[in-house]
This record gives sequence, C-alpha cells and structure tokens, in this order.
Amino acid sequence: MSEKHVMTVKVVGLPYGVDTVDDIKLVNPSDDGDILWGHTDFYTQRIRMFAACPERTLRTFLHELLHGIIGEGQIVELCKEDGTHLEPPIEQLANGLGEALESVGIGWNELKASYWKMKDGL
Ligand SMILES: [Zn+2]
Repeated sequence: MSEKHVMTVKVVGLPYGVDTVDDIKLVNPSDDGDILWGHTDFYTQRIRMFAACPERTLRTFLHELLHGIIGEGQIVELCKEDGTHLEPPIEQLANGLGEALESVGIGWNELKASYWKMKDGL
C-alpha cells in the first residue's frame, strides 16, 4: 500500500490532512465492501482519496471537503434526519465547483502546487 500526504486544508477552523492512496480498496476504512473514491474521517481529521485522473481527483477532493464543511459546520440543511449527509447535492456542488475552478485554470495539480508554494514560502 502506498499512501501519500498531499496537503493539509483548513475545514471550519480545523486542520484536515489530505492523503491519496494508490489502491481504491484502501479508501474505505470499514469492512462493508463499498468501493469509494474518497472518504472523510471526522475523528482523525483526514480526507483519503484514490488518485485517479486529475479531473476525477479534484471532484473527489471537493466532494470530501464539502462533507468536512457540512459535518464540522453542522449544516443540517444538507443532512438527512439520521444525520448522514445528502449525497446528491454534495456531488452536484462538487462537480459544479470543479468545473468552475478548472475553467479558470485551477485543477487538482494547480491546487497541490499552490499549497506547496505557500508552504515553502515562495
Ligand atoms: Zn459523499
């Protein structure tokens, strides 16, 4: 297994580590057998994603980031009665944000590059 720390992003004031894995089966920490592109763990404050093509990875990152914001920000309007998040609007928002960011030249690779540029103080 290869897990790579990509960046740390702030989610409603809390640092969340963002990691990619090279095997999609390693994304889901539970043993329910579901294959997931990404997963957000509120207890360890980590977003784990399968690194596919840059377009898919950007949308997966935005999708998981929205889960983080909804969970940490307690945005109940995007939750079901049992507290789980409503997946369709999250997916629609992630796809819309991804397309808008890409239309101004900010894709997954540009996001990563921007993070490391900031971190290196360049
Ligand atoms: Zn989701």
